[in-house]
Amino acid sequence: MSVEEMRWDLSQLVESTDPDSIKRKLESMVAEAGDVREKYYGEIGGLDAEALLELLELNDSMTLKYGGVTLYCRLLYSANALDDIAKQLNDASRTAVMKRDQTLAFVDIDMGKLLDSKPSLVEDPILAEYRHYLEKILRSMPYMLSDTEEQLILAKDKNGVYAWQQLQNDWLSTRTYEIEVDGEVKTMPYGEILGLYQSPDRDLRMRANQIVYEELGKDEIVWASAVRSICADHLQVCEIRGYPSQMTQSLIANDIDQETVDSLMNTIVKNRGLYQRYLRLKARLMDLEKLANYDIVAPLPQAPEMKYTWRESRDEVVSAYSEFDRQLGGWAEEMFEKRHIDGEVRKGKRSGAFCSSWLAGKSAYMLQSFNGIVGNVRTQAHELGHAVHAYLGSRAQKPSNYRIGSCIAECGSYFGELLLNERLLNKATTKEERQAFLATLLDGFGMSAFQVSARVFFEQSMYDAIGEGRFLDGETVAGLWTAARDMIYGDAVEWLEVMKWEWTMKVHYYMPNRRFYNYPYVFAKLFVFALYRLYKEQGEAFVPKLKSLLAAGSSKSPWELGKELGFDIRTEEFWEKGMRQAEAFIDMLEETL
Ligand SMILES: [Zn+2]
Repeated sequence: MSVEEMRWDLSQLVESTDPDSIKRKLESMVAEAGDVREKYYGEIGGLDAEALLELLELNDSMTLKYGGVTLYCRLLYSANALDDIAKQLNDASRTAVMKRDQTLAFVDIDMGKLLDSKPSLVEDPILAEYRHYLEKILRSMPYMLSDTEEQLILAKDKNGVYAWQQLQNDWLSTRTYEIEVDGEVKTMPYGEILGLYQSPDRDLRMRANQIVYEELGKDEIVWASAVRSICADHLQVCEIRGYPSQMTQSLIANDIDQETVDSLMNTIVKNRGLYQRYLRLKARLMDLEKLANYDIVAPLPQAPEMKYTWRESRDEVVSAYSEFDRQLGGWAEEMFEKRHIDGEVRKGKRSGAFCSSWLAGKSAYMLQSFNGIVGNVRTQAHELGHAVHAYLGSRAQKPSNYRIGSCIAECGSYFGELLLNERLLNKATTKEERQAFLATLLDGFGMSAFQVSARVFFEQSMYDAIGEGRFLDGETVAGLWTAARDMIYGDAVEWLEVMKWEWTMKVHYYMPNRRFYNYPYVFAKLFVFALYRLYKEQGEAFVPKLKSLLAAGSSKSPWELGKELGFDIRTEEFWEKGMRQAEAFIDMLEETL
């Protein structure tokens, strides 16, 4: 196998990879946005359905025309941040995108005003293909402020919440921690010591957690100041905008309603005993009385070491998709064949993994650092799920209808992970392998569905506390966090005292406009488990249903997508279906004992 095979070919994204030609293309993108502004500024309020359609189609054609070049610049940089040309082009692209967005910012605002004054346009048959896109714009209109006020909000965030985010990020990434590993004292930055949480050495895991959270707790004054200000800021913005609840902004962004979130969270609370049952089972598998917090996602001690070559991984993942559906398998294969995947481990390459849609190419590009461990195979299945989502969505939808919210964005990827899991389980020859696959799957489920839910309740409890006039100092916030956490975990886990500072490191709490970022993860995990349950019940008949769900992109709300599958996601009954699938996996794991 050549190394070439593990490197992506980005040249397909552009007519020429010559940096000057790339820059010229970026310049014409900005110029074209200027032309649109020239033509439409001050005019949108008077558009009829046909003229509005023309504007929407123009917008989409620009997305298709320039999506490749901006993606090229971004991917080039993520593949090698040390390369001068990559740095230059990435910077040029970001600047150009910013200019374009500023130039065109009036379009959405004026379109919102137009729809607000003529709501019948949303229903106009001429605009049928854009209907849900327009509905979403209309939904946020009642909470929009005047142009000047909107500008002020942006300015306030830039030097307010965003400054807290920057501080949290800088602070966390510049801390170092001293820890003894194999008899040697090492100094590690935060990003590195995190890796020890997954170590097979239990004592090392315990010490890594203890050291990190003890240090974070020492800065409680900083973290509490930040969180307190950000929450208070949000409450104020809710009041100014007239949001009925602290969750409204997030509900609009995720295209769902309060009833759905309430049913979802109620289902979590009702089933926490199920999760606790898994945690006790895992303790037995690890030969422990009870799990400590640093065991929750730790590997099982008896997990066999499994290694995969690039080719073997490709075979497993492509087969997993093909066994479900030949077309999806074919697309997964095409991602390898056309070299849209970067798997090589290199210096200067971005860590982690991601998949970006390439709408004009009706395809995608994905990046990971492939070391041959089973986790990498799982990541490959996950990211290729995003890829097949893009293959389906870009064929069926206009770009405006492929802006998928967080609740649905992980459908293809989580489902792909389950398909791979099924394949690996079927092939497993030993009890230990089966246990390892199932435990990894359930660890992931537990984190996304239950641990993240604790964060939802925690966040709500902070707003409630402020509402009751309580002052959020470090100990108070820590108390709210442990209360939410213990409500989910019960007595199934023993926590280090310093884990009360766990909330300090979660970046989302410090980001502008990311209040209640959390429940979409819970939604996505449970939604996909429910879909998988349906697949197990219906077999092949389910395949086209999943494909049409993915192909719908953002042209329908998650509620409508559920309805087409015969469900009402506003009911707990639907979410229970996902829980029954989780229970089935827990039963399978228990049977291995
Ligand atoms: Zn993903």
